[in-house]
Amino acid sequence: MSLKSLVAGAAVAATLAAVTAANATEAESTAASPLLAPWTGPYGGVPPFDRVQVEHLKPALEAAMAEQLGEIDRIAASAEPATFENTLAAMERSGRTLDRVNTVYGIYSSTLNDEAVQAVEREMAPKLAAFNDRITQNEALFKRIAAVYEARETSGLSAEQQRLAWLYYTNFVRAGARLDAQAKQRLSAINQKLASLYTTFGQNVLADENDAELLIENEADLAGLPESARVGAAQIAAARGKPNQWVIANTRSSIEPFLTYADRRDLREKAWRMFVNRGDNGGATDNNAIISEILALRAERARLLGYETHAHWRLENTMARTPARAMELLEAVWTPAVARVREEVADMQAIADKEGAGISIEPWDYRYYAEKVRKARYDLDATEITPYLQLDNLREGMFYMAKELFGFHFKPADPARVPVYHSDVRVWEVNDPAGKLVGLFYFDPYARKGKRSGAWMNAYRPQQRFDGDVKTIVSNNSNFVRGKPGEPVLISWTDAETLFHEFGHALHGLSSNVTYPSVSGTRVARDYVELPSQILEHWLATPEILDRYALHYQTGKPMPRALVEKIRDADKFNQGFDTVEYLSSALIDMKLHLAGAQAIDADKFERETLAALGMPTEIVMRHRTPQFMHVFGSDGYSAGYYSYLWSDTLTADAWEAFTEAGGPWDKAVAKRLSDHVLSVGNTIEPADGYRAFRGRDAGIDALMRKRGFPVPAAQKK
Ligand SMILES: [Zn+2]
Repeated sequence: MSLKSLVAGAAVAATLAAVTAANATEAESTAASPLLAPWTGPYGGVPPFDRVQVEHLKPALEAAMAEQLGEIDRIAASAEPATFENTLAAMERSGRTLDRVNTVYGIYSSTLNDEAVQAVEREMAPKLAAFNDRITQNEALFKRIAAVYEARETSGLSAEQQRLAWLYYTNFVRAGARLDAQAKQRLSAINQKLASLYTTFGQNVLADENDAELLIENEADLAGLPESARVGAAQIAAARGKPNQWVIANTRSSIEPFLTYADRRDLREKAWRMFVNRGDNGGATDNNAIISEILALRAERARLLGYETHAHWRLENTMARTPARAMELLEAVWTPAVARVREEVADMQAIADKEGAGISIEPWDYRYYAEKVRKARYDLDATEITPYLQLDNLREGMFYMAKELFGFHFKPADPARVPVYHSDVRVWEVNDPAGKLVGLFYFDPYARKGKRSGAWMNAYRPQQRFDGDVKTIVSNNSNFVRGKPGEPVLISWTDAETLFHEFGHALHGLSSNVTYPSVSGTRVARDYVELPSQILEHWLATPEILDRYALHYQTGKPMPRALVEKIRDADKFNQGFDTVEYLSSALIDMKLHLAGAQAIDADKFERETLAALGMPTEIVMRHRTPQFMHVFGSDGYSAGYYSYLWSDTLTADAWEAFTEAGGPWDKAVAKRLSDHVLSVGNTIEPADGYRAFRGRDAGIDALMRKRGFPVPAAQKK
């Protein structure tokens, strides 16, 4: 099933890929490659990371694809009338070898990406795309799927089986199963070309992140930076063979603290320009021409499939359903967010003027002066918080949260029995209160070269139980900057929220309680999948977590109550910036994909569209087009970056279900969340699941309250 369910940074399954899952004939493929054999060891088998080498990837992918094509051909050629069992269940069983190989391949691509892996990606990306098309374009197979789908209500299927029939049928149609031979051929050519372009796009961004850096030779140039950021910069420099110097790497986790604290305005500007120009520097790693080509091919593909634009095609199977509904939400929040930015800029300018800085606020000043405003208004200094935020303690805090809310008990797995792909990675087993295994949790916390930036969750193995009780394996991946060896790693408040966010995705995967892998865990609609992750962020700020787990790294004392209260008071601070930074990216993404067949110069389109929107000049998009991995690194979040706000509308409303009841730790609300949202995967319509949890649909009011924007006057939605 190729595209694993990466969430957070990237794509969620429910793609075609997710539909072509699973296999049965494992015995016949137990070749010498450790990648082809079924996983062995404890917990129903674990990935054989101790035996895998890059050289295994390509032959294993090829062998596993061939194996699945054989399985699919057998299903398609069956002389029996099509039934759920001999068609869809058989498909769920097919491709299990490829699932396992793809899992490891995905881990190498995203976290161990060196030149050898990149060569495999370049060669295999179009082959994998062609492979997917061969399955969805198999006419005999589609006829059988259609037959099962058409008889779904009268053939005695369970609700989940009916949903699966609908999902297979819909995904095949959406992938072109009903097109004529000539159109199918063109479609497959487009998909292969796109796969290559996505690979190049991602490799270009990674190259700019790896190769560009801000080297600091004099400690005086670090003025303003807190100790943790200095230590991090020194660690990176040492790792790059530059002892006694400091390196600000061209990644978000290095750049943002520098922009927040560095007193040297010229260096802030330099760092900012380096970061926002990733993929946009001319030369071999420039992404602009690639973007134009991707957009043109996507527009052509949408028309071929019978849709007005790529955005219409992508949104059809989401909760929003149409670009118009997504745009309506984005635009409703845009105006109040821009108004708030004007206030924030005025506050910052006043401080700069008072200090006699003699400047106008520019994008490289925003984070820096926002800190000063925060300090002045809330007496809250973010550097006061960080000493209490030790990564190891907060991780234990998330485990506590999982136990209190959902009854999950985390316990370190035996490293001798569970191999890892890098010494940074640690593994926990997760059990229910009765001691029964729920799954495994792999955690890969630190930044390193070859690991893509950002944070994400990934399911190595989806929960399922139609051929035995298969437990899930999930992972969280982030890019925390390491501290001095042997010393605790301190992280920022934002990083701590991200930690809880990704863990929310992990809990979504661990909570899964379904029969079929294609509808398991996080394989839900793209604009619904962020609900579990975003809501779990809220528990970080509860006294139960902070008192127990936010302990000062030197004194061991919990965060003082006064500081906790200041954090709470300031929780709507800088929402103008956060919202506009995000919304501008979401709007550009949607407008690029609504633009249809016209030839697009990304740079010009971005500039002119932002001007027309009234983008504040003091802010830049969170992801500028040439580095927008969500959108151009795969189909993943293309015309889908709006999903975070869509989900946050649900999140804000769902959080109020807790606050209206007994508070964050209300067991009854947590159980409803688990029963109707976390555990059901894609076995039901997301809107139905949400309604069952909340008793009604979500409106926009809670979202506006959460962000501190005016609530639309008694508007009922
Ligand atoms: Zn997420």
